[in-house]
Amino acid sequence: MGVINGNCTCAKVEFEVLDEFLYAGYCHCSLCRKSSGASGVAIGGIAKQKFTILKGDNYLQQFSRSAETVTCFCSHCGSTLYGEKPNVGLIHIRYGALNSCPTLLPQAHMHVASKADWYQILDDLPQFSEFPPR
Ligand SMILES: [Zn+2]
Ligand SMILES: [Zn+2]
Repeated sequence: MGVINGNCTCAKVEFEVLDEFLYAGYCHCSLCRKSSGASGVAIGGIAKQKFTILKGDNYLQQFSRSAETVTCFCSHCGSTLYGEKPNVGLIHIRYGALNSCPTLLPQAHMHVASKADWYQILDDLPQFSEFPPR
């Protein structure tokens, strides 16, 4: 399995992650929408130990957005890079921060019940009102 590199907009923070994502999808929840300023985010879940910060640890900031999720972002340029799920030892990498295409493509749309009314889903992937079934 390969390694995928990623970085924030200003490139002060760089990371690498093994191309071994467990699941991937588009999240339309209001928290992902607000933190990205977009319709939502494409994320891939992976065990935390398969992820490494290569550079810019001192620029990484954390924001506890909910009881389950800590959003990690660059304090210089504001790019949100990943969310930590400390209770389960997983992180959700934002696919937009990656520099090449992971093997596992997004498989579904999640939290469609809170999707922005101005955004239309135009593909045929399965849609779940909240989390997909495990
Ligand atoms: Zn940055
Ligand atoms: Zn979300």
